[in-house]
Amino acid sequence: MSYIPNPARYETMEYRRSGRSGLQLPAISVGLWQNFGEVDALGNCRAILRTAFDAGITHFDLANNYGPPAGAAEETFSRLYKDDFRAHRDELIISTKAGYGMWPGPYGDGGSRKYLVASLDQSLRRMGLDYVDIYYHHRPDPETPLEESMGALDALVRQGKALYVGLSSYSPDETRRACAILRDLGTPCVIHQPKYSLLVRTPEEGLLDALADEGVGCIAFSSLAQGVLTDKYLQGVPADSRAARRLGNGAIEEGQLNPENIAKARQLNELAQQRGQSLAQMAVAWVLKDPRMTSVIIGASKPQQVTDAVGAVANHQFSGEELARIDAILA
Ligand code: NDP
Repeated sequence: MSYIPNPARYETMEYRRSGRSGLQLPAISVGLWQNFGEVDALGNCRAILRTAFDAGITHFDLANNYGPPAGAAEETFSRLYKDDFRAHRDELIISTKAGYGMWPGPYGDGGSRKYLVASLDQSLRRMGLDYVDIYYHHRPDPETPLEESMGALDALVRQGKALYVGLSSYSPDETRRACAILRDLGTPCVIHQPKYSLLVRTPEEGLLDALADEGVGCIAFSSLAQGVLTDKYLQGVPADSRAARRLGNGAIEEGQLNPENIAKARQLNELAQQRGQSLAQMAVAWVLKDPRMTSVIIGASKPQQVTDAVGAVANHQFSGEELARIDAILA
């Protein structure tokens, strides 16, 4: 049946400006790293994206290597885009990335101009798009001069293949240098994508300050700690979880699901309940409490998980007492 999006989709989602750019993103975005590969049921993928768009989520985050196999998530997205979203292209922000190993030989990995240009051409073909909204360098490449990687991003914007550019997992210092180069080229960096959650607070060690200085937005990944910061693992490992599937591709990191983290999750869950939230909602809300944050990209294996995360938008204020309690739990 053809898809008719919810007419009220823009009424409850919050949109935040990315740094000092003109681009606004939904406070919650959806990522296709997991659950959109070749083995995943297309009907479920479709339900996840429709649920997201119906809730005002206008931003879908991809990368060349998402699958499995690498490239499959972009192909799955292409099918759903053609059926459901083509008529809404101008309501969508679609991002992709390159930076990890994608094809054999010296030109399928890293940060060379050769790789970044060829990979975006491949991504556009796989997704059936003329352009992406945001193209990211997925990780720094110390072997390639930053001028070359940033020059490639700038060239792709000038060719109309990307509207904006971003960085992922760059250190504060690398971020400042990359932003200066991009600014000089006339293609300012619009956003940075770091890992940031209650359990991984590295961006507080200089990155968020650097982004505020540079006027660059911030979009967090793995803010649910790949499921650990939800109520999923509080009573053991359910069969339909990432941990039980043992994907073995970093989808849930070795050691993440340790008794110490589960004990913390249990205490955090109690606080979340007192706030009238699920643990997933509180984990997302905690990241969004910082006005420097533009969005949180969540992963979802079911449409209900998207709906759960979207509920975080209703309350991302924390009292001083609540923040102190959280810090004490995590200490
Ligand atoms: P999350 O921390 O959001 O974990 C998502 C997983 O948690 C889901 O797949 C699901 O797993 C579980 N989950 C989600 N919501 C709920 C809920 N309400 N209740 C119970 N369980 C829930 O992050 P990801 O690591 O998946 O990353 C999200 C996105 O961020 C990626 O898709 C990608 O776009 C981006 N990313 C970017 C990276 C980069 O280098 N730039 C690296 C990693 C991710 P289950 O299968 O167990 O149900």
